[in-house]
Amino acid sequence: MGADGRPELQFATKKRVTQPPTHFADLTLEERQAKLKELGLPSFRAKQLSVHYFQHYTTDPALMSDLPKERREELVEAAFPTLLTEVKRLATDDGATIKFLWRLFDGSTVESVLMRYPGRITLCVSSQCGCGMNCPFCATGQSGLTRNMSTAEILDQIIQANRVIAEGGLGGLRPGDHAPERVTNIVFMGMGEPLANYKRVMRAVHRMVDEAPEGLGMSARNITVSTVGLVPAIRKLADENLPFTFALSLHAPDDELRDELIPVNSRWKADEAIDAAYEYYAKTGRRVSIEYALIKDMNDHAWRADLLADKLNARGKGWVHVNPIPLNPTPGSVWTSSEPAVTRMWIERLEAKGIPTTLRDTRGKEIDGACGQLAASEA
Ligand code: SAH
Repeated sequence: MGADGRPELQFATKKRVTQPPTHFADLTLEERQAKLKELGLPSFRAKQLSVHYFQHYTTDPALMSDLPKERREELVEAAFPTLLTEVKRLATDDGATIKFLWRLFDGSTVESVLMRYPGRITLCVSSQCGCGMNCPFCATGQSGLTRNMSTAEILDQIIQANRVIAEGGLGGLRPGDHAPERVTNIVFMGMGEPLANYKRVMRAVHRMVDEAPEGLGMSARNITVSTVGLVPAIRKLADENLPFTFALSLHAPDDELRDELIPVNSRWKADEAIDAAYEYYAKTGRRVSIEYALIKDMNDHAWRADLLADKLNARGKGWVHVNPIPLNPTPGSVWTSSEPAVTRMWIERLEAKGIPTTLRDTRGKEIDGACGQLAASEA
């Protein structure tokens, strides 16, 4: 809490923190070539190494028979310093949902959640160690911000998940799935506020979309960047020229309640956040998502559904859809999720006013892996 009794916001860490060693995934292909040149190696080795990492998901020198044997170890060490070490893996949904706990080079821990759906595989990635946004209903917010994750730390979550999938670690193929498989969808809904780590996150998004072997060759449309509402950063996003999906965590249409639920609302009000989301749509033509965690007797009133619909409709039609999610329990929180009947009523009110609304499927509650539950505890 700050001196004014309100939860503190942390946009940056107070102490200087060190970032992990530079990894190939931090660099463009051109930068990788330059780095190898410094090591006295021909630039085509950069491409070979990139194929191993981005296409075969390997950093094991023993598997890199196309590289000179005597320099393999040294090359791998220079290109792929260890970033994420798996500490714990919890599975649920018959193995279709896995939560990973990773330890980073400095001992920080983060989590990612891998989910198999019919015809797609989604990875929920973390972008910061902890989070400085202090939202009282989210477990991540309770421990504060340790540091930003590097671009390569963000990407290595995907590479490691792809390796697990390739080894058959995410259950078998389901009807509609095609081998070989890998992560198809990314949501920046793990630990952290992605727009508070703007540069590294955007570089990671580029690398996800870059054609292999510079990057992963994923479709930008399948990448969702979610924010608590950092308005100036939302405006920057609209100019990125990458067709990813944008999601705003609104949770309340009125400032009186949003001030309480989302401390950053003291800086940028609900209307400003909605305006910025609308501008994102106007500039990119990409429909935006509004996230809304339904909390019993807090934000699930009929009048708030109506007010939200009115505010969205006032800006235009067809530009937005609403994604309510029943609140997931977090330790120490007194709040619970809305009753199913109230949830249905709330959705119907929005739909009655012409706002497409879909209840978000929530996964991983049993393993504390659902939205708002990631705390990276080792217990
Ligand atoms: N900081 C970003 C992304 C991480 S959270 C953001 O706030 O958007 C991803 C989503 O989970 C956000 O919409 C967040 O508000 C929501 N969330 C947080 N705690 C939750 C909880 N206890 N139950 C359900 N959703 C929650």
